[in-house]
This record gives sequence, C-alpha cells and structure tokens, in this order.
Amino acid sequence: MPSWLALYYDEPLEIVRGEGRHVWDASGRRYLDFFGGILTTMTAHALPEVTKAVSEQAGRILHTSTLYLDRNMVELAERVAASSGIPDARVFFTTSGTEANDTALLLATARRRSNQVLAMRNSYHGRSFSTVGITGNSAWSPTSLSPLQTLYVHGAVRTRGPYAHLSDADFIAASVRDLEDMLGQAHGTVAALIAEPVQGVGGFTAPPDGLYAAFREVLDRHGILWISDEVQTGWGRTGDHFWGWQAHAGNGPPDLLTFAKGLGNGMSVGGVVARAEVMNCLDANSISTFGGSPVTAAAALANLRYLLDHDLQGNARRVGALLAERLRAVAAALPVVREVRGRGLMIGVELASPRAAARALETAREQGLLIGRGGRAGDALRIAPPLSLTDDEAGEGAAMLERALRAVDAEEASP
Ligand code: PMP
Repeated sequence: MPSWLALYYDEPLEIVRGEGRHVWDASGRRYLDFFGGILTTMTAHALPEVTKAVSEQAGRILHTSTLYLDRNMVELAERVAASSGIPDARVFFTTSGTEANDTALLLATARRRSNQVLAMRNSYHGRSFSTVGITGNSAWSPTSLSPLQTLYVHGAVRTRGPYAHLSDADFIAASVRDLEDMLGQAHGTVAALIAEPVQGVGGFTAPPDGLYAAFREVLDRHGILWISDEVQTGWGRTGDHFWGWQAHAGNGPPDLLTFAKGLGNGMSVGGVVARAEVMNCLDANSISTFGGSPVTAAAALANLRYLLDHDLQGNARRVGALLAERLRAVAAALPVVREVRGRGLMIGVELASPRAAARALETAREQGLLIGRGGRAGDALRIAPPLSLTDDEAGEGAAMLERALRAVDAEEASP
C-alpha cells in the first residue's frame, strides 16, 4: 500500500540475517543496527536463548488457541504484571501495539462510560480506527474521522512551542494550566489521558521528568484514567527506569500500561496491564486468537530473562549516556544539527530540515549504519540500538554517524 509509506532508502534494503547488534543485507554487506527495526529487537539479533526457546516450542506445537492453558503465557503474564508497578495487576496479550492501545481504550471508555479522551500533541499510538483518533502527529493520522472525541494536550515536547523558554518547573506548571483549561472545555466525563513517556514516532522527544505526575493530580480530581503507552519506552530502554512512567512516579503508577515491540525480540506480542478492577469492567467474552501464543510467549520469556539477568537497563543507561555525550560534541560543531535529546538508548537528533534528515539516513547507510527517522515533520533521526550495545559498538556507530552528519552539513552549506 505505497500511499501509506514507502520503504526506507532510495534503494530498498533487503535484510537477510542478524547477529548481536549487526544485520546483513542480501549482497552480504554488514550494518551496525542503531534502530532495531523501530525497537523490535530489544536485546540482540539471533539471541541464542530466544532462538532456542522458539525452536523448541515450534517443535512441540505452534499454537492452537488462547482458549487453552499455556504455561509460558502464564509465567510471562506474571512477570510482566509484577514488573509493571501496578497493584493487583492483570495482563491481556495482543499481537501488536495498536491492538494493545485499542484494548486500553476499550477498557477505559467502558469503565468511564465516555468516549472522550485526552491525548498529547505530536503523539503516535497506532493505525487502527480508534488509535488513529488519538494520534496527534498529523503525518501519521490519515483520517480525521474517529470513534473517539479527542482533546489534544500540550506538554510532550519540551523544546518547541510557546513554553519552550520556561524552566522545567514552570514548563510543567504551564502545561498543567493548559490541561485544566482543556478540561474546562470538555463535554462532561473524560475517560482517559493516553501518553507516551518519550514520544517515539514524534522523534524521541521527552517532557521534563514529573510532568505526568503533575497531570495525575488533576486527572485524579476528575476520576480520569492515565494510560501510559510504553510500546517504545518499556523494558529499561530509557536507562534510568524500567518503564517510562517511572520518571513521573510522584503520584503512583498509571491506571493502564500498554506494551509491544521489544518484548518478543521480533516475535509479534503486545498487551495491556491494569488493576483487576479496571480489567474486569467488561463482562462479555473477548479473545485475541493469537495474542501471546506459545511460541511468542516462549520467545518473550527467554528475552525478558536475558534482559534482567544481564542488567540491560543498566547498560542502556551507561552506553546511552556515552553515545549521547559523543553526539552532543559532534552536534556542537555542525549547524545542520539542531538538538540531541532522549533518554537511555532512545536518542533523537533533530536536524535543520526534513531534507537533511532524509540525506542523513542515506549517508549513514552508505557508512554501514542503520538509523531511523521521525519527528513532527520527519526532521529527526532516531537512534535505538538493541539494549546489549557495547561501548565499542557505540563508538563505532557514533563515528559513522559523525561522518554522515558532516557530509550532510557540507551539502546543506553549499548552495
Ligand atoms: N504506540 C507507540 C508509542 C508506537 O511507537 C507504536 C508503533 N510505532 C504503536 C503504538 C503501534 O504499535 P504496532 O505498530 O505494533 O501496532
């Protein structure tokens, strides 16, 4: 469906193999992977523990139906629930992030008997009818029709807009006033606020820590549920925290949390976590036929175990800080780079124009480095390597990106 999205690169890249933090194309060329397929490769490519778990399970049975008990799925649910920070948590598995958010919206709107929701400007939450309706990034929201009434809230982007010049504390205070003003304009009950702790498609933009805790105080006064979309920010990627919401933990955990992408290390699994009382607010039957199948659950469990046993969150914090520091030094010397931002191994590099970002993507590929693109106008580069990235690989990738950015800077400077 080419009208929705063309493939990356002037010449499409055919990836045929991966190992660790590297992938190989059909011609045998090796690339350092700084995008992990938009964060789907959480730990490493071809991680032996995951491959073994998948092949052993595939040799027994692929799937029947989620109507039958599968022990891996139960253990996975217990681990995810325990890690979520949500008390008395229950889990529902889906096959994608879109479906996870869709389910969260189904629950929140049913619980509050309202289809009015708050979402953040510049957000991305998926491609189904309801999730397009809460996607504030218009480049990714192909229709204005929606089953939801959505009010878009300010605050997710720290460095742009009318409050950019304020201190973090004043930025939060101004955003809270904006939220209160928005609620004053709402028609009756509002069901939920959905937000990405660090915006993914939006170009890895993060609000000041504590913003959603301050929002939470207002939401609680109105009984509005907080949905944290952790599809990109979960599993320690942001370095300081296992979940992105924990940078905003002042007033407790979110009511609902959604996840997907990295958990299966490439196998499609997503889901929702919420307190039992929220999860049980619907009393009709519902099933996701494939959500959390035996094979994906086996992959996810092995992947999660590896992540925890090897403290990859700590690695994301340490190597992410090294990489960001290196890129900030490069940026300072190059007018084409506007900003380096992000958390842990989720680093955004905003360039002077969408054209510069498109060129940087190509020139990085020529260097042997895969990165992503995003941002409100497609003007940001996104860096999100597998969380096992080593110091040497971070240095190697930074050097390739530096050469790519220097080339683009020179191109932009010449008339
Ligand atoms: N939420 C966020 C924050 C995302 O980044 C994405 C995917 N880019 C989604 C939801 C949708 O996930 P999926 O593509 O698995 O449906």
